Amino acid sequence: MENRFRFFNTLTRTVETVIPHEDGKIAMYTCGPTVYHFAHIGNLRSYIMEDVLEKALRYVGYDVKRVMNITDVGHLASDADTGEDKMLSGAKREHKTVMEIAKFYTDAFFEDCRKLNIKTPDVVEPATNCIPEFVHMIEVLLEKGYAYTAGGNVYFDTSKLDDYYVFSSQSEKELLVGVRDDVEEDVNKRNKNDFVLWFTKSKFEDQALKWESPWGTGYPGWHIECSCISLKHLGEYMDIHCGGVDNIFPHHTNEIAQSESYLGHKWCNYWFHVNHLNDKSGKMSKSKGDFLTVSLLQEKGYDPIVYRMFCLQSHYRKPLEFSYEVLDNMSAAYAKLIRRIAELKDEGGVDEACAASYRARFAEALCSDLNTSMAITIVYDLLKEPVSGQTKRTLLAEFDTVLSLNLLTAQTAAEAAPGVDEELEAYIAEKIEERRQAKKAKDFAKADAIREELAAKGIAIKDTREGTVWELQG
Ligand code: AMP
Ligand code: ZN
Repeated sequence: MENRFRFFNTLTRTVETVIPHEDGKIAMYTCGPTVYHFAHIGNLRSYIMEDVLEKALRYVGYDVKRVMNITDVGHLASDADTGEDKMLSGAKREHKTVMEIAKFYTDAFFEDCRKLNIKTPDVVEPATNCIPEFVHMIEVLLEKGYAYTAGGNVYFDTSKLDDYYVFSSQSEKELLVGVRDDVEEDVNKRNKNDFVLWFTKSKFEDQALKWESPWGTGYPGWHIECSCISLKHLGEYMDIHCGGVDNIFPHHTNEIAQSESYLGHKWCNYWFHVNHLNDKSGKMSKSKGDFLTVSLLQEKGYDPIVYRMFCLQSHYRKPLEFSYEVLDNMSAAYAKLIRRIAELKDEGGVDEACAASYRARFAEALCSDLNTSMAITIVYDLLKEPVSGQTKRTLLAEFDTVLSLNLLTAQTAAEAAPGVDEELEAYIAEKIEERRQAKKAKDFAKADAIREELAAKGIAIKDTREGTVWELQG
């Protein structure tokens, strides 16, 4: 098939046309969540954009196989293998076992994905399922001289590679700064950036999950998981590897070092990295204590799909700053968009010339470094066209296989309570928004007063996980 999908490849630092190893097929891998806590909406920005990437590739005709790991062991507080195991600190925090924590937060992650219309990858594999694969890869790396044992642990020897810093913009000095200043020195390492493939001694005392290995009872390092899980399900050649920008170093750099040393050839051609969601105080992160989740947005009355639209309105390569003001505007824009679409009658036949030109424009936006805000602009342009409702609805259904904004299935307020005139509907929407703002400002007296004002008019409101809904009382 014709290859015309282009995106910014971190490996070459240019926008490149994707040419897969096998014609028409894409082998794609995503670094999954570390399941020691809820995902914050920053993590979910990455997963939303990776989801759109997968769906865009499918839209333009590729057969995509996508694999994701679940990190349930080995990810320490610092990405450079120091500090406590994140899973263990989660278990201690909640007085549960590590496996209970893993199950709870894996389920919570997929529930968030469901709310955001993020498709579950074709294969999802927890790291704890793949211990034999990790042991095998480490054995081969030792045999080939790329790894060494020291102090009971097994380390990858980065000095054995001519080009360890594959993501070329980074100098060694820059990378070392990125590794954080609070790391304690591991005296077993021969070189500063060597990383752990298998832990036995270090952090061993209170590690909950451990397995037998040729190097003693222990557990795997974080980076080895992604190399092994992708090789297990996608084979020796991968087309696209995804993650957030914080994964570039050390995680993805180390994945490449291990995989290519093990395989003896180049492994993955294209690297797709999503920039961070920040709040006013900087990068959103779980270690900051208070962090924003999808459930919290819902408690505040937002439809999770509005957050998806917020992400799609910005380019994945730019940092994105979260604010409630922008989300409020997005909420209003989304409600208006859904009302306009609901008014379209599914009749009048499909104008094939118009459909063909819009399909081409939409595909071109996706192929141009995943220009999602342009894709949404095309939706608005289409609504303005002097063509039949059926043409528009047909195209919107197709576009929504990528955007996943429930363009045709979201309910308008009028549909939720038929028989209500537009004026009343607008009044209720305004009151619900006013109440949401009052609750946000912790002005609960005002919020209650609004509820009562509506009740006096026979309108009952209810806060649900999907946002505030209302009905006329009988
Ligand atoms: P973790 O659960 O910490 O392993 O992270 C899951 C994914 O979220 C990874 O791909 C990270 O790169 C990504 N990520 C972490 N913080 C952010 C953020 N603030 N904005 C966007 N993506 C992030
Ligand atoms: Zn990974």
